[in-house]
Amino acid sequence: MTPRGYGPSASFCPRCATPLSAPAPTTCTGCGYQLFVNARPTVGLIVLDRDPAAPPAQPSEPAQAPDPAPAPAPAGPRFLAVRRAAEPMIGRWEMPGGFCDGWEHPAEAAVREAREELGVEITLGDFIGMYVGSYEFQDEFLPVLDNFFLATLEAREIVLDPAESTELTWFSLADPPPLAFATMDAAIRDAARRLGH
Ligand SMILES: [Zn+2]
Repeated sequence: MTPRGYGPSASFCPRCATPLSAPAPTTCTGCGYQLFVNARPTVGLIVLDRDPAAPPAQPSEPAQAPDPAPAPAPAGPRFLAVRRAAEPMIGRWEMPGGFCDGWEHPAEAAVREAREELGVEITLGDFIGMYVGSYEFQDEFLPVLDNFFLATLEAREIVLDPAESTELTWFSLADPPPLAFATMDAAIRDAARRLGH
């Protein structure tokens, strides 16, 4: 059996290489090392095309007689999506973001990821929430703890990192397409609810 790295699917002790008798959390029978599995923190940016603190657009005239024709959808805020240039989920739309480094706080990671992936400074907004998901990479199936923040751009000139993304677009917060990861779908739903859309 080929060992599969040091992550949750490792079949051997990362300290002494003794085969493990059970999946983590477990204790190595060879050296007593206690192996745990924890979700790795990531950050995702819900970059809006307008400041959510700005007053909403005025509603149209009050409703009158019932109208059988559906009313046009209100022009709510849109969020930035980028198309993944690499596995996993290559070619799918996602929000910018990535893994937190070492002891990096997710808010700091959010600002760093915007610089790296979009080439811009952002103003970080409200924290939307954290979501437990899965990430398949290097033959491992990792639990991840995805932290999502609202953000707005300080400059409009986005320069994508071609190693990360092939193109960008803006989707309606109220009507998003399926995104690369289920945690992103959930975060967009919660952000739309938070902003009243
Ligand atoms: Zn061991």
